[in-house]
Amino acid sequence: MRLSNKHKKYFSKGPKNLFILILVLLGMLALLTKLTDYTRQIKTINYSTFIHEVEQDRVREVTVSGQDVQGIFKNGSCFETVIPYIPRHWDILKEHNVNIRVENTANQFNIWYFLLFGLLIAALAIIWFLLRQARGASGGGSNIFTLGKSRAKMFLPSTIKENFDSVAGAVEAKEELKDVIDFLRNPAKYRRLGAKITRGVMLIGEPGNGKTLLARAVAGEANCPFFSVSGSDFIEVFVGVGAARVRDLFAQARKFAPSIIFIDELDAVGRQRGNGFGGGNDEREQTLNQLLSEMDGFQTQGGSVMVLGATNRPDVLDKALLRPGRFDRRVVVPYPDLSSREQILHVHAKGVSLDPEIDLAMIARGTPGFSGADLANLINEAAIIASKKNQNAVCLKDLEEARDKIIFGKEIKSMVQTKEDLRVTAYHESGHALLTLLQPEDSDPLHKVTIIPRGRALGVTHSFPEREKYTTTKQEMLAKIVTLLGGRVAEELAFNKLTTGAYSDFIQATEIARNMVCTYGMSDLGPIIYNQRHGDFAYSPKMAERIDQEVQKIITECYDKAKTFLKQNSDNLDLLAQELLEKETLYATEIYVLLDIEAREDYRFVQ
Ligand code: ADP
Ligand code: ZN
Repeated sequence: MRLSNKHKKYFSKGPKNLFILILVLLGMLALLTKLTDYTRQIKTINYSTFIHEVEQDRVREVTVSGQDVQGIFKNGSCFETVIPYIPRHWDILKEHNVNIRVENTANQFNIWYFLLFGLLIAALAIIWFLLRQARGASGGGSNIFTLGKSRAKMFLPSTIKENFDSVAGAVEAKEELKDVIDFLRNPAKYRRLGAKITRGVMLIGEPGNGKTLLARAVAGEANCPFFSVSGSDFIEVFVGVGAARVRDLFAQARKFAPSIIFIDELDAVGRQRGNGFGGGNDEREQTLNQLLSEMDGFQTQGGSVMVLGATNRPDVLDKALLRPGRFDRRVVVPYPDLSSREQILHVHAKGVSLDPEIDLAMIARGTPGFSGADLANLINEAAIIASKKNQNAVCLKDLEEARDKIIFGKEIKSMVQTKEDLRVTAYHESGHALLTLLQPEDSDPLHKVTIIPRGRALGVTHSFPEREKYTTTKQEMLAKIVTLLGGRVAEELAFNKLTTGAYSDFIQATEIARNMVCTYGMSDLGPIIYNQRHGDFAYSPKMAERIDQEVQKIITECYDKAKTFLKQNSDNLDLLAQELLEKETLYATEIYVLLDIEAREDYRFVQ
């Protein structure tokens, strides 16, 4: 595996926003009050003093509003006073050349009224905001009394146009989901023999790769109603509302069983419990607990309710969600590889008049790292560009223009690898793959190799054990370390420079080596536990030094071995990396043919 070193930040939305809004409003109020305090640093003087000051020629101007007078001394400081209803002062003021301004008392502008008014508005805004939050932006027509009602959108089978033909590529995902469709169509078939039907499937993949599309297609294929909701719709300011909504959603779905519930952004509700701050996030935990108990108990007589969840953060999900009887199936929906991209382009080009010269396979080649949504967008953007120019058909130049536009947008969001990056990733993964093949006795069979990014991994080499393993030999552990280090070695051999991409391989390799020395007694230090986790077996600092030396010895020897292997097979390394760059994903069978190796007999994953 090769890792990118881009980290994403996730900001949680919802109640925190409200909190911030209130803070800002309070801040503004405080500021206003402060300002008025400041301007109110005015000296209050009595009438006699006022007249005296005027007579001393110390007053520059006054503003008279009824009996209230505000004025400025010639030295710049301000004062205020109240004058009686006697006309005498007018003459005195005139005599001493004071500027007089008279205000109509009815139009008097009082900063305090203004503040009070502001406070009222702020309070109203907060109440309005709370209500809106509770209702949600899309809750059209609902009010505070329907808070606990689910906000899921329901689609009847007649309105669902998607089926498996609408989803291009995604072969593995479709294969997995075929079972689900059969469960929904023929529940009796499975129940007859007492089989427990799957209740939940987790669709895992980056946005835009067709998770929603697949879920709708399942509903279309099974011809059953589809309830669509986003995990964030459950999260509310008021404790208990989310749980009530979950209850309502499942009650609805059960009424229409067999049916499908699709929960997008499952991680919004499904995050690990018990790590909230300030006393935990009660609302979310209640909602999650409700979801778990609904999933445990919703087997109905008529037909089943299938829950499809979508997420791109399976790592943050609460473990309880993944237990049997809940989301016990996981379907990975990856970025499309070359041939999938071509098929997706074909699907979306159907209703668009394209220049017959255009070769969509070539377009697919030029769009690595594009998601299904990006490809749909590509065709659409190109059509818009062509329409603007009043062309009769979309031509290659329009597609190229649209592509550049999308790439520019994507680069900001990251994960589009440059050509050079892709080359390094291809060599890295080829290194892993080749070393697996070169140590057949001690490695698990290779499944596939890909340079299609997933999560933070830029590429992955999969191999699976042929059977459940209960023990591992020293040879197998060493072979694993050699294979893990092969990524870096391949990069080094091909490009003679070091990148950060091998970081997670090193973690794994170091962990294995350390366990060999400290836990499994597989080094010269003998069958002794030197493991901090087994706190009873303390060891001396001198021993710690020897442990480090042993670990280092294992890693160095494995690194050298990987280097020797790959140097001897540099032709195959180049061949494999080139093919991987071309096709992006290679299954083991294709690699056997390419490198002219005899396929392993026990190879189970025929593609
Ligand atoms: P996600 O739910 O994974 O974010 P969506 O299912 O919403 O992705 O996909 C967005 C759009 O991208 C779809 O409506 C469709 O137009 C297009 N798309 C994605 N994957 C595919 C695919 N495999 N085949 C055809 N179109 C796809
Ligand atoms: Zn790696």
